[in-house]
Amino acid sequence: MHEFSLAQAIVSQALEAAERHGNLPVQEVRVLAGVLRQIVPEIMETAFDAAKQETLAADARLVLREVPALIQCKACLACFEPDDVFWICPNCSGSRCQALTGDELLLHSVILSDDAGAPGGSEPNEPARGSRGGRHGNTRHRTSIEG
Ligand SMILES: [Zn+2]
Repeated sequence: MHEFSLAQAIVSQALEAAERHGNLPVQEVRVLAGVLRQIVPEIMETAFDAAKQETLAADARLVLREVPALIQCKACLACFEPDDVFWICPNCSGSRCQALTGDELLLHSVILSDDAGAPGGSEPNEPARGSRGGRHGNTRHRTSIEG
C-alpha cells in the first residue's frame, strides 16, 4: 500500500509546481520509478487518481517510467544488472553490492495546461504562434475547487 503515500507526495509536489505558475491546471505528471521500488503501475495509477481529486491535478495523467537497476560491486567496482533479489557480482562473486540506479522515485516533470484562454476554439487572427517565454495571460479560469 505504499503506493498511496507515494502518490500523495507526487501530487503535492505537482501542485507546488502548479501554484508557482499561477495555479495552472496540471496536465501530466511524469515520474521515474526504479524497478527496485517494486511499484505496481496499476496500483500507482489508482492511488494517483485518488490523491489528485479536487485539486489542480484533477485532470492530470500519470506517466510512469521505469528505471532499470544497475548494481555495482563494492569490491571490484564491476557494474551489472541484477536478475535476482540477491546481488552477486558476476565478476568476482562478491556480495557486497550497492544500487547505482533503480532505487529512485523521482518527479521527473510536471506539465501544466498552458492554454488558459479560448476554450474550444483558437482565434484565427492570432499571428503569434509559439511565442515562447512570452507568458501572457495569467488569467485564472479554474480556481474554484469545490468541496
Ligand atoms: Zn565484484
